[in-house]
Amino acid sequence: MPNKHFCQGPECHTRETSDRFLKSKGIIRGRYARLNRDYEPQHNWGYVNMDKYFCSQGCKNEWLNENMTLIEMGIPVPFIRERRFTEGYKKTTTTHEGWNGGTYKTNSIERVDNNAE
Ligand SMILES: [Zn+2]
Repeated sequence: MPNKHFCQGPECHTRETSDRFLKSKGIIRGRYARLNRDYEPQHNWGYVNMDKYFCSQGCKNEWLNENMTLIEMGIPVPFIRERRFTEGYKKTTTTHEGWNGGTYKTNSIERVDNNAE
């Protein structure tokens, strides 16, 4: 396990990206934060510390959006210490016809429809 926190983004484990997808279990997993816990910046850039807690700018924004009300009320924000995941995804490969008569394939990650008959 890397020397990293899990990304604290509240929706990180629901994003359908290929690097979050674990095919064998059909789940989407939250990412690790971008930087190691003990990363020491070479420059005095103030924002670096945040990247020990988040994988991306989008996750930082979502965290602020979701938690500022709690902070304002003085309620502690839970720290994510276990990897979160969302179940029920599958990878679909689609074959397309190319302009030159050949074919190419694209992959997409899709939610499995549990209600299908
Ligand atoms: Zn994230």
